[in-house]
Amino acid sequence: MAKIDVLSMLPEELESFALEIGEKKFRGKQIFEGLYRGATEFSQITNLPKSLIAKLEETAEIRGMTTERMLVSKLDGTVKFLFGLQDGEAVESVFMRYKHGNTLCISTQVGCRMGCAFCASTKAGLKRSLLPSEMLLQILCAQRETGEAVSNVVLMGMGEPLDNYVNVLKFLRLVNLEKGLNIGMRHISLSTCGLVNRMDDLARENLQITLSVSLHAATDEKRKEIMPVARKYSLSELMAACDRYTKATGRRISYEYALISGVNDTPEDAHLLGKLLKGRLAHLNLIPVNPIKERDFKKSEKEAIKAFTDITENTYKISTTVRRKLGGDIDASCGQLRAQRDGL
Ligand code: SAH
Repeated sequence: MAKIDVLSMLPEELESFALEIGEKKFRGKQIFEGLYRGATEFSQITNLPKSLIAKLEETAEIRGMTTERMLVSKLDGTVKFLFGLQDGEAVESVFMRYKHGNTLCISTQVGCRMGCAFCASTKAGLKRSLLPSEMLLQILCAQRETGEAVSNVVLMGMGEPLDNYVNVLKFLRLVNLEKGLNIGMRHISLSTCGLVNRMDDLARENLQITLSVSLHAATDEKRKEIMPVARKYSLSELMAACDRYTKATGRRISYEYALISGVNDTPEDAHLLGKLLKGRLAHLNLIPVNPIKERDFKKSEKEAIKAFTDITENTYKISTTVRRKLGGDIDASCGQLRAQRDGL
């Protein structure tokens, strides 16, 4: 029988679990606190009686994660991790130092089934979704390895977070707990390729996280060429879901747009994008595409990026930023280390 994954449980769930195995409720709280003090084995939670430790070892587990690789950028101190999971799979996380604090970009799935043409994480499809504990462990391990606290989390690593909805929601609740990692919802961003039905579910949760929506094109025709999800949901359906999200949460949406030379970076593309976002509570994040091995997508030229930004910012008054490249010397965009490791 699968063992209970205690790191995926809320304090109240651990209390019910303690009652179920014939213990006092407060033992659940002690287990919870022990986990966040860094226990990797039940025997390290020293305020538990030996009899309970034995019971826990039989029925439950503290899932582990190993650091398989850790690459530190000489340019800006960005750290790229390849973490090994208990079943032999691996995921990537990226630790970035910003003025406003340390940010960890975490993975939500091993692989991805969304199939975006420019993305390295989706090449071999989806292997499996991560457990809430496996998302938390990326933060706990990154903190341990760097000796620094993580204050912001972005769900922008491998995988589509809304394709692992239940576990991601549970993770958000866990990471937010005051007695746990205590990372505020406003310090968390979640990026989706636009799974409309799940965006509506998320809107109902009314969390104060930042939602990022990967647009990458301003017409259905072009979007379908690079993002298979566009065949399922049209841009008008997606934008309507974005509007419902903003209305329900009051939160500004951040739209991501990977600039690919000759594909979506002409002034005409910028005008179409400007028209699409105008009047919406929107921020636009332009990401010069990171070329991946299998595809010959190229980054847009500096002049094209400037012209594009001018149009969205000045003509359409959309708050626009161009993502600064961090960790340029360590392949810091996601999916590439795992692909190397597994020969994908
Ligand atoms: N599945 C989520 C998270 C993916 S990663 C989503 O689609 O939003 C976060 C962002 O990086 C997404 O906008 C994704 O489209 C983008 N991205 C993926 N590969 C990229 C690449 N090679 N260059 C630039 N951006 C990329």
